[in-house]
Amino acid sequence: MAEYQYKGMEIIVPDNDREHQGYFEAARERRLVVQRCSDCGKLRWEPGTACPWCTSLTWEWHQVSGKGTIYSYQIVTHPIQPGFSDWVPYPVVLVELDEQRGEPTEDEALRIVANLLDDQNEPEKEENVAIGKRVEVVFVDASEDFTIPQFRLLDETPGAPLWQFQAT
Ligand SMILES: [Zn+2]
Repeated sequence: MAEYQYKGMEIIVPDNDREHQGYFEAARERRLVVQRCSDCGKLRWEPGTACPWCTSLTWEWHQVSGKGTIYSYQIVTHPIQPGFSDWVPYPVVLVELDEQRGEPTEDEALRIVANLLDDQNEPEKEENVAIGKRVEVVFVDASEDFTIPQFRLLDETPGAPLWQFQAT
């Protein structure tokens, strides 16, 4: 069993959870990986036992570029986890990776939930967050032995009009 500390919270990864162990081991090496099904070849996230497309239990790690687009987002204003109380309000983004967009159906893609950070690894400001903005992965060392893949805005022209929530 591996126990990590992150923002004053304890994160436990059991020994039999080789999917999350491998995911975080790769993050320590500054690599963003997802699972690739050995039978149908589809990539998937988040880490899990079986392929959601063909139910196969065989898979291998596959390194992805870490670049993508904000597919959706939320601004957290109430810190459910005490460790995030100094962060509110902060964005949580659903990132659609560049790999496997529109597969296996046009509505599907490889999407990852993460925090959106600025250059100082602090939460990105709400006014800078918008659906459609380009992002890339960054690896944040939460402690000596625990690294978390997060995302940061990328200075790239979006491929579609941006959308941003406007409070009334
Ligand atoms: Zn499969």
